[in-house]
Formats: sequence, C-alpha cells, structure tokens
Amino acid sequence: MKSSAAELFQRISHTSRRDALTALGAMVVAGLLLVAMQFFALDRTLRQELDTQARILAETTQAAVVFSDAAEARALLGPLRAHSAIDSARLLDAAGRTIALYRAEREHVHWTSHLAAAPVTQAPILAGTKVIGQVELVACTTPMWQQLGLFAGATLLIMVIALCLVVWGSRRLLADVHLAEGRQRYLAVHDALTGLTNRDTFCNLLEQAAGKGAQAGGFALLFIDLDNFKRVNDTFGHAGGDALLRCVAGRLRAQVRTADVVARLGGDEFAILLAAPTTGEAARRVATGILQDLALPLAYQDDTILASASVGVALYPNDALSAEGMLQCADAAMYHAKRLGKNALEFYSARLADNLSAQRAIEQDLRHALVDDGLWLAYQPIFDGQSNIVSVEALVRWTHPVRGLVSPGEFVPVAEACDLMPELGLAIVGLAARDIEAWRARGLQAPRVAINLSSRQFVRDRHQAQFLAALTRLRLAPREVSFELTESAVFEDLSSPNSIIAALQSRGYSLALDDFGTGYSSLAYLLRLRCDTLKIDRVFVHGVSASKESTLLVSSMVHVAHALGMQVVAEGVEDLADLAHVRSLGCDAVQGFVLSKPISAAAMAALLTRVEVPVSV
Ligand code: C2E
Ligand code: CA
Ligand code: CA
Repeated sequence: MKSSAAELFQRISHTSRRDALTALGAMVVAGLLLVAMQFFALDRTLRQELDTQARILAETTQAAVVFSDAAEARALLGPLRAHSAIDSARLLDAAGRTIALYRAEREHVHWTSHLAAAPVTQAPILAGTKVIGQVELVACTTPMWQQLGLFAGATLLIMVIALCLVVWGSRRLLADVHLAEGRQRYLAVHDALTGLTNRDTFCNLLEQAAGKGAQAGGFALLFIDLDNFKRVNDTFGHAGGDALLRCVAGRLRAQVRTADVVARLGGDEFAILLAAPTTGEAARRVATGILQDLALPLAYQDDTILASASVGVALYPNDALSAEGMLQCADAAMYHAKRLGKNALEFYSARLADNLSAQRAIEQDLRHALVDDGLWLAYQPIFDGQSNIVSVEALVRWTHPVRGLVSPGEFVPVAEACDLMPELGLAIVGLAARDIEAWRARGLQAPRVAINLSSRQFVRDRHQAQFLAALTRLRLAPREVSFELTESAVFEDLSSPNSIIAALQSRGYSLALDDFGTGYSSLAYLLRLRCDTLKIDRVFVHGVSASKESTLLVSSMVHVAHALGMQVVAEGVEDLADLAHVRSLGCDAVQGFVLSKPISAAAMAALLTRVEVPVSV
C-alpha cells in the first residue's frame, strides 16, 4: 500500500518532468518555424518592393533613356536614397550599356550581406511595345536581417519567459507532489491528531518485538485509556477533547526513552511499547509516572481540564508470547484497573484473567436475567425517631439459577463495567413500579421508595431520555419515588451539561446523597446539589457510640446538613447503642439491621399492614 503510493508519486514526478521537456522541445520547434515563416514573409515583401520600385523607375526614366540623358537619369535615381532596402540601381539602354548607376552609401559592408545572395530584379523600359532599356535593382538585405533578428530575439524572449513559467510551474507541482507524498508517508505511520505512531504501525512493531524472542530481553506493553473522556468532550466540545488528546500524547512521550514507542490506538486509547530490555519494575515506574502526569490539570481557554487514565501492563515473555496475546493481556489489565475505580494501574496476572472470565460469566448470566425475570427488589425500611417507617430503600436482588442469591455488590459493578447499567436501571424502576402497584392494589399506603442510581446508567443522552420517559410511563410520581446518588456520581453528573440530577429535580423528585463521607465529601457540592437528604455512610455509624472520632464526624455532618436544610439518615445501624447514639446526635432517620434487614416486597406488604406510615423523609 505504502510502496504503491510512493510509485504513484514517482510516476507523477516523472510525468511532469517529461511534460516539461516536451513543452521545451515544442517551443523550440515552434520558435524556429515562426522565425522561418517571418524570414520568408520579409523576403517576399522585399522582392515585391523591389519589383514595384523597378516598375516605377522604368516608367519615370523612359524619357531619360530615349534621349540618353545620363544626368537626368542619375537625378531620377537619386530619391532611391530614401529606400534603405535598395543597395544599387542601374539604368541600361537597349544595347545593355549603363546610362546611370546609383549605389547606396554605406560605411561598411554589414555581415548579414554574406548570409545569402541579395535579390536582384529587372524591369524593362518600354516605348510603346518596344523595349528601349532596362532597370536593374539590387536589394540590400541588411534591414530585412535586422528585422528578422529583432523578431527572432522577441520570439526567443517569449520562449525563455514561457520556459521559465513552465519550469516554475512544474517545480511547484513537483514540490506539491513531494509535500503530498511526504504527508501520505507520514500518515501511513502516524496518527494525524497527535503525531504519535498509529495503530497499524504499532501492531507491526509489537509483532517485530515479539518475533525477536526472549533472547533480546523482556519488553513491556502499556495500555492506557483515559477515564471519562466523553465528559471532557461533552463539557469542552471536540476542540477541548482534541486539546486533551494532544496534551496526553506529549505527556506520554515525555515519560519514555527514544527507543520506546508511544501510539494512539484510536479514540482515547493509547499504548506504549517499552523496548527490551525492560523489567516489570521499570514498567511500573513508567506507568506510575504516567498516572501522575496525566492527573495534572490542563489549562484550556479560561478553564481547566482534569483528566486521569487507567493503565494496564503486560510483560513479555511472562504474560504472552505473541503481539496479539500481549495486547489482550494489557487490555484486560487496563479493563481491571478501570473497574477498580479508574486512575489506577494494574499488571496482568493469571488471577486477573480468572477474575475477568468470572466477570464475563456474570455479564452473560445477567443479560439473561434481565429478560428472564431473574431480578427482584428487596426493601429496607428507614425509620424516624419514633420508629415509624418514613421511606424504604429499594435494593436489587438477583436469584441466579445455579448460584442462588447473588449480591448487588458483585453484579452491579459488572453491569457498570460492561455498559449494562442503563438496561439494569430501567429494569429496577420497572420492578419498583410493579411492587408499588401491588401494594396499592392491596389497599396499603406504601412509603416513598428510594431508588439507587448509578452514573453509568446515563452514559449517553439517550439513556437519560429513556429513563425519564420510563418514569412518566410507569407513573412514578415524586411522592412515590425518590433517588439516591453517591458523591462520585454527583461529581460526574454536575460537570456534565446534560445533568440527570437537574432533570430529576426539575420534575420534583427528592434526592439523597448516598454513602456520604466516603467520597469527595465536598461542601461545595453539597451547596450546589441542594438535595433533600444526606445518608451518612455506615463506616462512620458502625461503632459510633464507642468512638469519639466517629461521634465528632457524625455530629459535624449532621450540623452541616441541617444548616443546609437537609434531613440526615444514619445508614448501617447494627446495634441499639449506636441507634440511641445517632439519634442523640440529631440524625432524623435511621436505616440498619438493628431495625430491619432488607425484606421482600411481600414481607414489606405484611409489615405495612401492621405499621402506620407517616409523611416521608
Ligand atoms: P447502598 O446503596 O449503600 O445500600 C445499602 C446497603 O447496605 C445494602 O446492601 C444493605 O443491605 C446494606 N445494609 C443495610 N443495613 C445494614 C446494616 O445494618 N449493616 C450492614 N453491614 N449493611 C447494611 P446491598 O443490598 O448488598 O447493596 C449494596 C450496594 O449495591 C448498595 O449500597 C448500592 O450501592 C448497590 N445497589 C443495591 N441495589 C441497587 C440498585 O437498585 N441500583 C443501583 N444502582 N445500585 C444498587
Ligand atoms: Ca443507597
Ligand atoms: Ca448507602
């Protein structure tokens, strides 16, 4: 492909050179033809002029010849001085004797007179029909040669100018062709946006490295994928995304040696081949440097782009012996790093491969469960200070046909990693709507159901639209359901121009900030979010009655939340001491095994028949 492009360009440059030579040849021939034609035209004009002059002289000198008046004849020849094209004129009588002779005065004989014999013309002098004498004119060819010289000079000048234009034009064409050829050659091996090696070339280089075998020493392959690149594109536009990709390319290059190869494989995927000999330790150093470097903020226009990456590392020959195998291992390690929460580094290992195949199995089974009704919701009540149920949290459950009950802690992250979350999220609101309807059908006054949301549910704008449409279709009004989001989900959502939080709030739904204290715990976000409820994570609640630090943290959170007009729920309360303590610290509601474990919809219905449900938190 590459060589055929080069051949094509070579052919183009040959062709243009040949064309220039042909043009030159044609111009020379045309110039010579023009000069020859001009010569014949001038020669004909000269001869015609000579003939005319001879005829006129034959008429005007008739009397002088009749009377053999030589003086008169010379006087009649005198005006010929005005004709530069006549060299000499002679009047002859009938016997051929010269009566008068005129010769043009010339300082020297012009060299052109040697080029060809001067044309000579004769005209008879008649008296009636009788020939009484003759006029003989000899032309001077110098003016003709001078004219021809001027013409030839002008033609040559035009030819030289035309030739210069042709040469200049063809030079420019050649330069353009060379430029295009260079660009074509460059693009055949480089990525146009970042200037890094492109995917095909990188794979070839990887194959060559693997082909050399282990004798050359081990090498490492780093697979780098930017985290949340879509968000950067959404927020800063494609120009911002491109700026980030170019900056990443520069930062990656800065981390490696000249012998190493940095490539952009496409989109926000990069790869680095750390040339042999490279140890695992060296690869770790480079990968750590990359993570640190990529986390540095990038100034863009008046804003700052924050990025991070997930890096997977495979080592040759330990992990795989082929280029393809190395790519798979590094990709799998990167995928695992992403699942660990992004901005992470992961080395390929056999255990990781086992994990991945287990995850793939979960993914496949979960896809079946989504269509085969394998999922259901458990409900965990949330109680106020008087132990009334104020709301219930919907917690998804999966009864696997072979494994039995699978925890959401196991399958929700898999669904998030393999983009199943939008579908799972829709299934969950469908199940909630079905249970609420069943409770209502039994005449029970159901408390508001808090539904957990994942940021991976709304990766595309259409997912958000589908979700909002489902809420409308299922008639899940704000008094029936509320939503819980974690701090990281809020962080991602609020920096996106198409915020699901804003969409839900504008429809009147209550929001709770879930697992508070485990993520960013940013007061700025609390202010911006303006949600209704703060759920303090169970790590602060568990054993709080015996811990001064936890007590301090929980009471601070309660103060801040109350100052912002939020209700506070303490999550994961497992014993009575903690229950009493969180209530004394001002928590408005409590959720935990001490009061109720998550229960089925049917058990929930049974519970609702016994307890009165007050106004929801
Ligand atoms: P989460 O949103 O923080 O849900 C509360 C979790 O704490 C539930 O675990 C619940 O069973 C557990 N829990 C409640 N009280 C106690 C207690 O006293 N002690 C202890 N140790 N645990 C308690 P579960 O049901 O296993 O859910 C785990 C996580 O899975 C949830 O944490 C949530 O992040 C996710 N998840 C569950 N259901 C859904 C769902 O429908 N959608 C989404 N997106 N995520 C869900
Ligand atoms: Ca929750
Ligand atoms: Ca929680």
